[in-house]
Amino acid sequence: MHSSSKRRLTASATTALAAALAVVAVSPVLSADASSSGKGRARSVIFINGDGMAAAHREAARLYLAGLDGQLNMDQLPVSGQLTTSPHDPKTAITDSAAAATAWATGVKTYNGAISVDVDGKPLPTLGQQAKQAGKSTGLVTTAQVTDASPAAFFAQTANRSAQDEIARQYLAVSKPDVILGGGEDWWLPAGTPGAWPDKPAEDPTEASKGTKGNLVDQAKADGYQYVSNAQQLDSARRGKLLGLFGNEEMFQQRAEGEGDVYSPAVDLATMTKKALDTLSTNKKGFFLLVEEEGIDEFAHENNAPRTLQALESLENAVKVARAYVDANPDTLLVITGDHECGGLTVEDTSTGDESGTAPSTEDGPFPVKGSKLQFVMDWTTGGHTGADVPVTAVGPLAEQFTGKHPNTHVHEVLSQILTSRH
Ligand SMILES: [Zn+2]
Repeated sequence: MHSSSKRRLTASATTALAAALAVVAVSPVLSADASSSGKGRARSVIFINGDGMAAAHREAARLYLAGLDGQLNMDQLPVSGQLTTSPHDPKTAITDSAAAATAWATGVKTYNGAISVDVDGKPLPTLGQQAKQAGKSTGLVTTAQVTDASPAAFFAQTANRSAQDEIARQYLAVSKPDVILGGGEDWWLPAGTPGAWPDKPAEDPTEASKGTKGNLVDQAKADGYQYVSNAQQLDSARRGKLLGLFGNEEMFQQRAEGEGDVYSPAVDLATMTKKALDTLSTNKKGFFLLVEEEGIDEFAHENNAPRTLQALESLENAVKVARAYVDANPDTLLVITGDHECGGLTVEDTSTGDESGTAPSTEDGPFPVKGSKLQFVMDWTTGGHTGADVPVTAVGPLAEQFTGKHPNTHVHEVLSQILTSRH
């Protein structure tokens, strides 16, 4: 647009244009200042974790869902940066979800497996608890167990991420999130009490109730939570404290292709996100909502690209819901990132040979580039996590602080400015 209009300019119009451009150049600075100094107007945070998602996952999803010239919702946010993810673990330089989420939730680097405790096992204050203390509503939405490492680090403290029944107990007794939606019913009920999701289902006979902290579903109801376990119940749930458990464990079956792999959550992430926002947004003091798509990481561990792409599409749809919310509510910071890379993924041309050798380091595809005759291949180099940077994109108050490259503890530095202030 500028180049075509420029051709018609007279000398005096050029001067006018220069003045106009000066205003354009200045205004982003003004708005950044306004949003920084306007901290008083920043009330809420939506923080979205694509578990295991780094640059190559986002690019594969972009080609597959948006095409060569398209852009994902998650990539359309005006601010972007990079985060490094290494933990403080005596045995490894590569993080797991627990240490990464602890860095976000507490600002402290710790060992893999730690849920918001430091390297000496000392419990750390978490953003989920601090937001509550500041009078805000809090919630978590995930396709993993609601007590899995990423949400757990914001709302619980344990030396070992596998103590998921203890994490559920702490949700009810200590951190009291207003909205809890996801999988993991097995950890809320004692052995022999199957609940709404039957023990030993055909798709995974190892799943069965195994909690050791009593019947926490009954406890939640006694504490005033509405309890729902399917899409219809979720839809008709009233505003107010809400616990929804939509699976025994993860809301999918993570396996290699053709070995019983299923990505078909009982309720999709976007629907859960919408419901959570409907409830949390009624608090005038604001809210903190954690949204997580776990399938990206779990299927990347399996080097299962078709299901990884499905999980990425699910995340995209949830981002669309969150973006619509922040467009209507500019007092809300929206941040989208991943806790670490998973799979050592690259996006390649179809003509390259499978130079990475035998399983699990194999190629998947080819997959179509949307709106094009072109195709691409997804090549995995590991079934584990890697140390690759993760992109972070953001919009809303303080978003500009995500510009540049930072350690993952920077998430805590930014979010805490909004979530720990009482006003
Ligand atoms: Zn993982």
